[in-house]
Amino acid sequence: MKTAQTLSKFILDNSIKGFLAEDEACYLMSLVEQHYPLGAVLEIGSYCGKSTVYIGEACKALGATLFSVDHHRGSEEHQYGEAYHDTQLYDEQLSKMDSLPAFRRTLHLADLDSTVIPIIATSSNLAPHWTTPLSLVFVDGGHSYEAALHDCTVWSKKLVKGGVLAVHDLFELPEDGGQAPFDAFNAVYNEGGWEKLSQVNSLGALRKL
Ligand code: SAH
Ligand code: MG
Repeated sequence: MKTAQTLSKFILDNSIKGFLAEDEACYLMSLVEQHYPLGAVLEIGSYCGKSTVYIGEACKALGATLFSVDHHRGSEEHQYGEAYHDTQLYDEQLSKMDSLPAFRRTLHLADLDSTVIPIIATSSNLAPHWTTPLSLVFVDGGHSYEAALHDCTVWSKKLVKGGVLAVHDLFELPEDGGQAPFDAFNAVYNEGGWEKLSQVNSLGALRKL
């Protein structure tokens, strides 16, 4: 199996846009390796496919499937005029963000078309229809408190026993970043029935007991 380092070279070579640090990518891959084959894997927040390539590569080696969910219209911070807006991902005719073409391109370049199933949907629209047991959920979608709390609480209930909820952008201190994912992660942990796994950089994980 490719290591995260060789994958990272691949990502740099192909300029896959995204928001995931190298140590977080390695940790995500190891979480998949340790907690499969309990069920399928699902991520919320595909964007251009950076996290998808790492999780997907780990899934591919195990014969697992990754469902990658995104409405591809961007989060608040990606919208026109906001801090993380990318003009290359903007459909001027529609005045809307569209990361889907870049995401599809990434999947093709990474040879993951048979491993990753893209789902173009808002996480809260999809959730009520979702019945497939999951071994790992990676939450990296909307950063409003409402979105983060929804994604952590609702999707964590779809995990099998022993499954892992991994959440990105956990910042203990407000000066380091927004608090919504951190608060949502802790809300799930405080429900009880979870073992807290290591946190690597801003990526935290809980294992369902
Ligand atoms: N995981 C990516 C980064 C994700 S950025 C990486 O490794 O680079 C966050 C993504 O979440 C954006 O693409 C945005 O469109 C998506 N998103 C935000 N809110 C969402 C929601 N409610 N449902 C589905 N996707 C959402
Ligand atoms: Mg993130």
